[in-house]
Amino acid sequence: THAVLALCRAGFEGECGQELADLAGRTGGVGYVRARNGTAMAEFVASEDGKASAPAVESTIFARQVVSVFARLTALDVGDRISPMLAAVRARADEAGRVPWREVLIESPDSDGGRELAPLCRRLAGPLDQALLRAGLLSRTGTRRLHVVFTATDAAMLGEHTSDASRPAAGGIPRLRRLSGAPSRSAAKLDEALAVMMDADERQRLLQPGMRAVDLGAAPGGWTWVLTRHHVQVSAIDNGPLAAHVMDTGLVTHVRADGFRWRPAKTVDWLVCDMVEQPIRVATLIGGWLADGACRQALFNLKLPMKKRYAETLACLERLRDTAGLPLDLRCRQLYHDREEVTVLAIPARR
Ligand code: SAM
Repeated sequence: THAVLALCRAGFEGECGQELADLAGRTGGVGYVRARNGTAMAEFVASEDGKASAPAVESTIFARQVVSVFARLTALDVGDRISPMLAAVRARADEAGRVPWREVLIESPDSDGGRELAPLCRRLAGPLDQALLRAGLLSRTGTRRLHVVFTATDAAMLGEHTSDASRPAAGGIPRLRRLSGAPSRSAAKLDEALAVMMDADERQRLLQPGMRAVDLGAAPGGWTWVLTRHHVQVSAIDNGPLAAHVMDTGLVTHVRADGFRWRPAKTVDWLVCDMVEQPIRVATLIGGWLADGACRQALFNLKLPMKKRYAETLACLERLRDTAGLPLDLRCRQLYHDREEVTVLAIPARR
């Protein structure tokens, strides 16, 4: 493969591109980054004769979707976009000597222009799938996913990735249920994090009714409310007020205190934190809780209003590890609902 394409939040193309280059560099990849601001995508293009292997999307912070690009189609006939796609896919299969794809996904970047292409993507999905099947270019035994990324009505990149290394939903955007009754929009962030940062087995094991949590910077109560919906008891730390219906769950204790100083009397299962503060201060704080055994696991946001947001994120993760001083399973992602921020889940590593 000569290029790796990632889709990301608009405005984070630079961070996403830097991360692709960083990951490629670890496996000896040499090349350059293409990441135009506002396009909601970034590319790592291998230098001549070079190769670029696509990382698993789950190993990245800023990418929502990752694919290996094998063809770029431009000036497509808008009356028949499918024939040239079939030709490019067939050429790829011939090169590989087999048909490795199980399915196809059509998507577009989450930019102003890219979102306008979503109806076209949906309209083409059925016909392209049918055409590929008829041409024998999809295989039930395949282990890879074919990706078509439209960048204009007449331009698309064709790519692929191992089925479990890219995401099955268009744009890598998870379909989440609407939260009715949430006291703030922030609630969607924690809801998404709990849904996508742990697998079903971990959710069952780590998030059980009757568990105890601390929510630092809890007001007006969105994250606390999400926790109560999992029947978790919450100490909500904030000098600001909590929504009445959150208090009415009977599961919440509101503590008016400084989140940087307050500590529980005994170990809690979860520490969550959405305080708007310098990210390095937050990372240090959470690391301290883990080091002291004040919480079992932690889920928190790092706000990134500064420049050099990729470097800052890595520095915070390193600080967290150093401060915690115990082996951690660390996951960090810019979730769909994260704006100028990323979400971190820290679980002590299982032995
Ligand atoms: N997660 C909340 C929700 O879902 O509704 C929103 C939290 S809001 C983004 C940040 C909160 O952090 C504010 O309510 C603010 O009062 C609180 N905060 C900031 N610094 C704090 C501190 N040192 N101690 C306690 N709370 C703090």
